[in-house]
Parts: sequence; C-alpha cells; structure tokens
Amino acid sequence: MTQPTGTLAPPYVPERDHEWRDDGTGLLTHLASGRTRAVATYRQALIVGTADRSMTTTAIRVPYVVAYEVETVALNLAVIHDVWALSGRRLSYADPVGSDWVMGVLWARQKCDRRGKVNYEEMHTLRQRECMLYRLCQVCEGPAINPGTGRLSWVFHEEVPAASDRLSKPPTCLRCIPKARITCPYLQCEAHVYTSPDYEPWGVKGTVFSASGWPTLQDVPLTDLCTLEFTLARALIVHVSNLLPERVP
Ligand SMILES: [Zn+2]
Repeated sequence: MTQPTGTLAPPYVPERDHEWRDDGTGLLTHLASGRTRAVATYRQALIVGTADRSMTTTAIRVPYVVAYEVETVALNLAVIHDVWALSGRRLSYADPVGSDWVMGVLWARQKCDRRGKVNYEEMHTLRQRECMLYRLCQVCEGPAINPGTGRLSWVFHEEVPAASDRLSKPPTCLRCIPKARITCPYLQCEAHVYTSPDYEPWGVKGTVFSASGWPTLQDVPLTDLCTLEFTLARALIVHVSNLLPERVP
C-alpha cells in the first residue's frame, strides 16, 4: 500500500540575530563581515533547495517543527485483522509497535534527525504533535504560553474568520513572532497576531484509506472512530476558542 504525501501550512524561517541583521530594506547584513544578501533571493533559494549551505547551517535557526529530508522513512502499511476494531480490521504497519498509535490513531513514522536539507514546506509529524500536546512554540521549542497573560499566541498571514477555529498550526511564542515576520515571505506581506487561553485536541489531519477509491487527505475528528481506524495521521488538529486579535509585535 502506498502512502501519498501532503503539504501543510509552511512554518517560519527566523534568522539568528547574532549572525545576520535585517536592516529593513530587504537586505541581510552579516555582522562579522559586513557582506549583504537580499532577503527575497535567499528565501527563494531556501525554497528550491539551492541556498548557500554555509548560510543554512550558520545563519538560520531552522524552526523546530520543520521536517528535514533525511527524516522521511518508507512506510510499509498494511491492513490487519483486529478484534477490537469496529470493522474487525484496521490500518497498521507490516511491523507494528504499540507506539505507532497515539490517541487511537495510527501516526506516520518519521525519523528524528535534524540535519541536512530542510523541507520548509512540511512539518515534522511527531514534532508538530509534541508542540500541540505540550503547548510548545513551533519555532524555538520553548513554552508558547505568555507567562504575563497566561495566553498562547499565533501569527497568521491573514485574518482569522472567527473567534473559534480549528488549527493544525502550533503556536508561536511572542519572542519569535518579530523574526517570523521578517523571514517568512507570507508574513512579510501581512501579519495578524491572535491569542487564546488554551485549546482542546479535536482530530487529526491525515491520509484516509478506503476500500473503494484513492487515499485522500482529510481532517478527521477524534470522535469518528470508524474513519480513524483507516487513517494515517500527519498532524494533530486542535479546537481553539476565544481567539482575540492583538497588536503585532
Ligand atoms: Zn519561540
């Protein structure tokens, strides 16, 4: 059984301010040598994978939630008989272990090896879930909650349509938001910050396999037990309420 890949919302690419400085005119200036480089050019090089490797390793702090190419593993999926499943069968691996299932759903395996070429268009499945479950910042891995207000924060490139919403994007702490605005091409155009007191797990974004038809990428609630038995989870979705717009730092 093959497993299609899907892309999730791109996370941010903050620079390390002790190496490079953004002077606000679209240029990055290396603090030690004084040489400059266009932000837009470097961002595009990162996206297509031709970025200067020395800059990738020394100038950029890769966000915690981003996946690296070497972390991709082959997924040898299978459908197994299971007397505890509602249909008597469920999606599994050919060599399943108990930790493959969390919250009653099978999760996509990935290595944890943050080295080499970065895939900025994809979130690492297990780190995304970790950030969501433990309220960690998707960029720095630190606590995402603001100790002064007790609220979690997010930054989006467009307005959130409602105060209650479902998100697969982990929060970003207030310390990381200014750098995210500088380095993320989406946020350079437009940025909106929202906070919430907390959230609840709602479901998963994953690949749903059915007996009749192609696998499809779906958002599956944790209450849909039948569908979850044939879902390969890629990201945890949470339900956030009481989202309030805030001043953009
Ligand atoms: Zn952070």
